Amino acid sequence: LFVTFEGGDGVGKSTQAALLEQWLRSRGEEVVRTREPGGTEVGQRIREIVLHHRGHIDPRAEALLYAADRAHHVASVVRPALARGAMVIQDRYLDSSVAYQGAGRVLDADQIRDLSLWAADGLLPDVTVLLDLDEVSARRRRDADDKPFDRLEAETDDFHARVRAAFLALAEAEPERFLVVDAAQPVEQIAALVQARVAERLG
Ligand code: C5P
Repeated sequence: LFVTFEGGDGVGKSTQAALLEQWLRSRGEEVVRTREPGGTEVGQRIREIVLHHRGHIDPRAEALLYAADRAHHVASVVRPALARGAMVIQDRYLDSSVAYQGAGRVLDADQIRDLSLWAADGLLPDVTVLLDLDEVSARRRRDADDKPFDRLEAETDDFHARVRAAFLALAEAEPERFLVVDAAQPVEQIAALVQARVAERLG
């Protein structure tokens, strides 16, 4: 099973990915928890480039860097894990590209989706959890965090609002893949909703 977590910055994706990993391990599953950008050594280099030069890379070049990270990650980590029956839990995937490079940087969303699918060789998640939070609450959470360099605020509230709207539109277009969760709820409550959806998929 391939589960991805999506949503804006500061909505709690990593926390929920870790909780889902714990829960699946307690059920005896093999779990690979990973992320984009940066789920491989090559990807880590790409992550440094895109985050370090954020706002100063041509949007198309940025989209291609994310796609390069994805292509290498899917081929070398995600597919092999799924092929041996492991559960893959991933922080961000192609919906992030459609939201950030498409709506955020204002490129054509369909083209970004096609590029992402090409990079991923067509691999779509079985379940995508969208943690939804308004921009103001998300910014408050980010401001409360200690910030390593890749957390430095680079985008406007308007950018984050476009990203959020794009995620919601994606979820609406594919209701069978997406679980949309109000990220303002308590952590444990969110985790329970995620577990219920994954349990349903596991049968
Ligand atoms: O969630 P994570 O910390 O891995 O994301 C790093 C940064 O990269 C975030 O600020 C996110 O907004 C940005 N990002 C992006 N486009 C993507 C994926 C992540 O701009 N496709």
